[in-house]
Amino acid sequence: MRHSALMILTACSTVGNESGPAKGSGQSAVAEMIYREIPHSGQKVSAISLGVGSLHESSDAEVERIVDYALGSGINLVDMIMPTAGPAEAIGRGHEEPPQGRDCTAPYWVPIIIWLVSRIGRGICRRRKKGFEEQLRLFGSGDSDIGMIHYVDQNDDYDAMLNNGLLDYAVKLKEAGTIRYIGFSSHSVEISQRFLATGLIDVFMFSLNPAYDFENTSEGLRVAADRAALYAEAEKRGAAITVMKCYGGGQLLSATDSPFGQAMSTAQCVQYCLDWPAVISCVAGVKNMKEMQSSLEYLAVSPTDREYRAVLSSGAAAMEGVCIYCNHCLPCPVGINIGDVNKYYDLAKNGDALARDHYSSLSRWASDCNECGECEPRCPFHVKVRDRMKEIAAYMGK
Ligand code: SF4
Ligand code: SF4
Repeated sequence: MRHSALMILTACSTVGNESGPAKGSGQSAVAEMIYREIPHSGQKVSAISLGVGSLHESSDAEVERIVDYALGSGINLVDMIMPTAGPAEAIGRGHEEPPQGRDCTAPYWVPIIIWLVSRIGRGICRRRKKGFEEQLRLFGSGDSDIGMIHYVDQNDDYDAMLNNGLLDYAVKLKEAGTIRYIGFSSHSVEISQRFLATGLIDVFMFSLNPAYDFENTSEGLRVAADRAALYAEAEKRGAAITVMKCYGGGQLLSATDSPFGQAMSTAQCVQYCLDWPAVISCVAGVKNMKEMQSSLEYLAVSPTDREYRAVLSSGAAAMEGVCIYCNHCLPCPVGINIGDVNKYYDLAKNGDALARDHYSSLSRWASDCNECGECEPRCPFHVKVRDRMKEIAAYMGK
């Protein structure tokens, strides 16, 4: 068992013996945390976890309370990626001391991030490595559980990551015991498949929810085949998925914004994600205590209240004119990734702090649209892409 000074503490009595109700088991809901295992090791991970990317919107005192509340609720996975270093020290203070009654020999879980924002030269790669080492220092830790190569969404990003040695760096960290698992995050099915094909991946974070997964076919709404294949490949390889954007950046929680024409509850969104066998945890990127508590509601509600299928089956008509980022409209002659442009725009409007950065890193923006209109007849949802591109360019400034 590795220990380090800043730890995400786990209640051993629960973690050691409980992997949670089986899917579809019909067990009554309990307010205790459910745990799932990383297949490569059997390490148990809370089915709901904490993402700190938006915590800088709270005061330091509130951040400490949120972290303490999350740990007290049994969360043992914290994704430390954040747009500013601001709340890092407060996050550390939120769990400096083991909560009373908890066993300090419990597994600790600190996924510290190897930052990678691609389109990289060797210099930036070195800075990202230093960023990882700086995070270890900040948290008073000599090691981390997951070393995650964050945010690789395009093929040239992936190629640069290979060429500049970042994946090799992660392998060396694992061999040295500085990290236990190699992970990555991506919004791209293609890139995720490339990572999985290396055979090196233990864990990956992927944007997974009904709005991103479903497409309209002649047989009605279906999960897109490439996404279903990715989740199956992950399961086959024992690569665990941690989910980002499980509420679609808030879109699915709003009747007006949801492509399914009605709001889903947080519990319904979480259940959808957990119904994929490879998924081990939904990472709740909360801004405040209210959102933290809302994300944990899943644990307290009944199986009936987690059920989401009726919402999805009612959604076909409501999806008309709404972009679900499926990219059936490609190719765009100027190279715009229409799905990603729409997705980052929707996320930015819903307050996602990282969405503008993600948008900026795209190789083509909405402002590059020449209004040729080639994409529109290919969109099964009849999205007015040219109008959207103008709207997005005005909002994003490019
Ligand atoms: S515009 Fe239509 S086809 Fe293109 S990504 Fe959006 S929903 Fe899919
Ligand atoms: S209308 Fe714009 S987004 Fe659509 S294919 Fe043409 S250039 Fe690309």
